[in-house]
Amino acid sequence: MEAVSIAATIELIKKAINVAKNLEEVEIKDALIASREALNEQREKNLLLSEKNQTLKTKLNILETKLKSRNRIKESIDCYEKITDDGKVFALCTQCWEANDLAVTLKKARGAVPSCPKCSNYYYNLQKNKYANLN
Ligand SMILES: [Zn+2]
Repeated sequence: MEAVSIAATIELIKKAINVAKNLEEVEIKDALIASREALNEQREKNLLLSEKNQTLKTKLNILETKLKSRNRIKESIDCYEKITDDGKVFALCTQCWEANDLAVTLKKARGAVPSCPKCSNYYYNLQKNKYANLN
């Protein structure tokens, strides 16, 4: 039952309880009070499930994004390559990716030898004009 309809049902039960009070029908009143409590419990459970659902959706989004970016990383001869939506290819550090799953983009160092800013590994044999981050 949705939260809105639960709230509407609770209102109806409250009205019915008032009618029962007037009629002094004790059994009906007790049953209605029990129904109201059950519905209130259900509403609490629904709220908790809603919150959990939202948390799981957020986690799923994060994982989908990670998976999507992971699928764009491919092994090449001298390094790993990340391909962006617009088709650009970036050279990534092999050591950081294989050891720690870190997609670290290589930087052009002094003397034009690309290196990893994280682990300082040098890449002497890269085809620099192939990579957007090394041009
Ligand atoms: Zn590295």
